[in-house]
Amino acid sequence: MASVDDLLRDLRAEVDRILPPGVDVTDLDFEAHELVLTTRRPAAFADGALIRRLARSLHKRIIIRPDPSALSDQAAAEARIREIVPAEAGLAGLAWEPAVGEVTLEAVRPGLAIGAQGGTLDRIRAATGWNPRVVRAAPVPSRTVLDVRAYLRKVAGERRAFLRRVGRRMHRSPAEGEKWVRLTALGAWREVGRSCAMLGTQDSRVLVDCGVKFDEGDSATPLLGLPEVQPLASLDAVVVTHGHLDHCGLVPLLYRLGYDGPVYCTAPTRDLMALLCMDSIQVAEARGARKPYDAEDVRRAVARTIPLDWGETTDIAPDLRLTFHDAGHILGSSVAHFQVGEGLCNVAFTGDIKYERSWLFNAATNKFPRLDALVTESTYGGRDDHQPGRQAAYEATRDIVRRTAGRGGKTVFPVFAVGRSQEVMLVLEDLMRSGEVPRMPVHLDGMIGEATAIHAAYPEYLNSRLRDRILKEGDDPLRCDVFHRVDSPADREAVLDDPQPCIVLATSGMLTGGPVLEYMRAWGPDARNTVCFVGFNAEGSLGRKLQRGWREMPVQEAGGHQTVRVAMDVETIDGFSGHCDRRQLMNYIQNMEPRPELVLCGHGEAGRCVELADTVTRKFGIEARALKVGETVRLR
Ligand code: ZN
Repeated sequence: MASVDDLLRDLRAEVDRILPPGVDVTDLDFEAHELVLTTRRPAAFADGALIRRLARSLHKRIIIRPDPSALSDQAAAEARIREIVPAEAGLAGLAWEPAVGEVTLEAVRPGLAIGAQGGTLDRIRAATGWNPRVVRAAPVPSRTVLDVRAYLRKVAGERRAFLRRVGRRMHRSPAEGEKWVRLTALGAWREVGRSCAMLGTQDSRVLVDCGVKFDEGDSATPLLGLPEVQPLASLDAVVVTHGHLDHCGLVPLLYRLGYDGPVYCTAPTRDLMALLCMDSIQVAEARGARKPYDAEDVRRAVARTIPLDWGETTDIAPDLRLTFHDAGHILGSSVAHFQVGEGLCNVAFTGDIKYERSWLFNAATNKFPRLDALVTESTYGGRDDHQPGRQAAYEATRDIVRRTAGRGGKTVFPVFAVGRSQEVMLVLEDLMRSGEVPRMPVHLDGMIGEATAIHAAYPEYLNSRLRDRILKEGDDPLRCDVFHRVDSPADREAVLDDPQPCIVLATSGMLTGGPVLEYMRAWGPDARNTVCFVGFNAEGSLGRKLQRGWREMPVQEAGGHQTVRVAMDVETIDGFSGHCDRRQLMNYIQNMEPRPELVLCGHGEAGRCVELADTVTRKFGIEARALKVGETVRLR
């Protein structure tokens, strides 16, 4: 059996054969799925022709890294870069990573900084020896995005060693003998929360998602103790579909429990995961609750993340290739498609999906080159789970806000920081701009402002209409001046004391905690006000109880427990959902190309998973099952 060193020796011989005389390679090694060549003559590769020849011949993604001796000093390189990059690109700043010979250009218009076919970058490479990367300079700086970028620069050297380790492991020889593919259900099967599944083959094992369970008093983690999952250190990869805590909230815990491998997700998912996991630590500390992990574990997860764009097919294990596709659910949310072996099995995990174009996102992708098995969410997969569309949600928002303001009241939208809040913001901006509702302040409390700033950093992940409006017309509705960030208790006091009608978007969406409870306590007893739910309320949450007709809410005062009477209107608008309703789930599967042979229904209350599976089998003749947590099925 050939070792990785043998493989690298063969690749080295092939590289030496292809390179022209005088172009040397001082080092050659894998860094995750890429083959990195270090050279004293980076200029020889600047036009891309040689790289393309190498990639074709070696069947690898090739990265050229300058040998330290090839780098011009930073001051001289900066002067050259500022000459080369056109002024219209809006070059904001440069950040240097000498450990890997990289310079990051922050530009207002990244496309212009990259140039046609990367021409501007090629010129920088030839003139300075440095490897340029371009990132978007966010118009509203997001602290999370800036912190993550700065942290990754700080750990660039350590990260390089890590990527080499991943690369060598990934290129190990596959095992001889019988091939098989299995899925083990570890969390969010016949339940919502703690999303987790393991995809295992004779050669490799990956986790898809690793989330928390929201229910109060129930701190269930996925079944990470099962013998087939242990030891965690031997897992090849963790793949995260999106940045909601019920999908990514326990990824840092894996590092605490011995895992030290890569996390694959989109860049916005990485940033949202960092924001929400850090916040969950603070929430636990404020409550005096036990924290499953600390900030250092979150930083480790960020340092180990390998970001992938939609549509970029990447080797992640000896027999596994991963491609992310748009899931239409929240910023960066993805359907994860795996190719196992050479055509042995193709399986897609939807994560959470929306199969309808929303104000923020395109509809989820359901076209794949090949597909044998589909793992789908079933949140609203029950027989009676019909939701109105986006237009009905728009009209309902208009009517509720108008009516409440008309009687001098305030409207409170309990929301998750990520996803629904930005949709509600877009609708409110539109309603006020068109004069359908009177202009009034919209206060954003509890990380919503920061989550919105992350959206602004990644316009390429928004739907095409919104992206064009932001990038081509320079008109970003999320930055409209009706929106005010509530950043401190003093800001909140001022909002609570203001007698004028206004709108508040505050976390948490299910009234399980967060600043929204302050508004509910202050404004709940006043019948002029309205609380309006726009997202999912889990069984047992205060949000669900109010929807069911409860008109009391418990609050904790310094003197002990008290009860506040809720006299305000309680409204629900279903059409904002980031999930498919029953009809959309069925359409998603019906229109899927190609049709899978097996559908596994998870991520929903038990009855809903079972009903969806039954209907898929009855209507489409496809084998469909609602697995239970702990179950394993063979896919091949
Ligand atoms: Zn989600």
